[in-house]
Amino acid sequence: MRIVIIGAGQAGMQVASSLRQNGFGGDLVLIGDEQQLPYQRPPLSKAFIKRQVEPAGLLLRSAAALAEQRIDLLIDSRVTRIDRDAQLVQTNDRTVGYDYLVMATGARARNLQVPGSNLAGVMSLRSISDALTFRSALECAHQVAIVGGGFIGLEVAATAAAMGKSVTVIEGADRVMARAVAPLVSSWLEAMHSSMGTRILKGHAVASLGGCSRVQSVRLTNGDEVRADLVLVGVGGVPNVEIAKDAGLECPNGITVNEFGQTSDPRILAAGDCTLHPNRFAGGEFRLESVQNAIDQAKTVAGALLGDPKPYDSVPWFWSDQGSVKLQTTGLPIGTESYVTRGDPESGRFTVFHLKGGRVIAADSINSPADHMCARRLVAANHAVTAETLRDPNTDLKSLLL
Ligand code: FAD
Repeated sequence: MRIVIIGAGQAGMQVASSLRQNGFGGDLVLIGDEQQLPYQRPPLSKAFIKRQVEPAGLLLRSAAALAEQRIDLLIDSRVTRIDRDAQLVQTNDRTVGYDYLVMATGARARNLQVPGSNLAGVMSLRSISDALTFRSALECAHQVAIVGGGFIGLEVAATAAAMGKSVTVIEGADRVMARAVAPLVSSWLEAMHSSMGTRILKGHAVASLGGCSRVQSVRLTNGDEVRADLVLVGVGGVPNVEIAKDAGLECPNGITVNEFGQTSDPRILAAGDCTLHPNRFAGGEFRLESVQNAIDQAKTVAGALLGDPKPYDSVPWFWSDQGSVKLQTTGLPIGTESYVTRGDPESGRFTVFHLKGGRVIAADSINSPADHMCARRLVAANHAVTAETLRDPNTDLKSLLL
């Protein structure tokens, strides 16, 4: 039996490892279109741009470990077509047959669709190759504009400000990280970045980018202009679904899978950023871009392939390092009815719980890892809790889990 995995990123690598760890003895082919061995992306916007880690330090497995696990990795090899009837995938230079196929194609950075977005000096950050280009450009830049006040934009803003650059974050919503964290956490982060010298402009989108061959400015929809010799676009991701769609799989916003990671084709499964999956914490189908989701969904897919199907039911969690601040989130803040703050924001260590129906549905922790670990379990447990109990510093959060 041969299992072919398209996409040699976090999810693809985990599917292959889990299959081997759980006794799969057949052929395993992992096909990736990048030039590197599988690597982790989170450090790209953190330690990597500070030169605290180099590409070799990002690898998820060495070539020797892959060989030992008999994972046949094809790098720099892009799958261009899936023939479901013949059970074949076509790459730029070969055809590979499969018994089962796993789509782990991830997502790509969303581009700005405005005049000037192709100018030199306008960049995004998704791959090692992007990060190598960006960090060299950052070192030479003076005025850095970051489009998008999400986690990648804010992580880079903190690094750029610490390097002494003039930094402007442009966020179209009325607060940073609006879809991910509570308003209090957004305003706390905005104050923290402002204290590092970063200017945060909110509420207006980018209308155009100006410059001759190189970017020189960013014009906003309200007419304001921001001078910039380097622009980082961090406005979210687009799932890589084109080959799945061409093969006739349902892909409204991601490849539709069930709770076992199976698509409508019994021979094809999918995991990671590219999937639209049933998520209990979202109350319906959801697409998540996180390491947690990539790893846990990959394990689900491996279980289904090995005849031991267990539904995907993992609590979402995420982290973001912004300067000296560690933000950790859990759950999905969808339909929050009220917020409860535990700890004093002034102290730089606190957690905001999102409540709905008297239960914790999400939590954002600033420099509070112990709260975060309990919050993950509170979200999973779905127990009734009161705001007073959560807020009370004398409450041992672990006691709420008993
Ligand atoms: P990917 O890791 O993107 O892997 C998909 C692979 O498939 C890619 O190599 C892609 O090139 C390849 N591919 C696509 N199409 C084809 C094809 N047709 N043929 C062959 N190969 C193909 N998550 C967190 O939880 N915490 C963080 O702090 C965090 N920080 C991040 C920082 C950055 C800069 C980025 C970009 C992401 C970050 N993430 C973070 C998100 C996390 O890295 C992703 O959710 C995770 O990598 C998803 O894994 P994946 O395998 O689904 O996709």
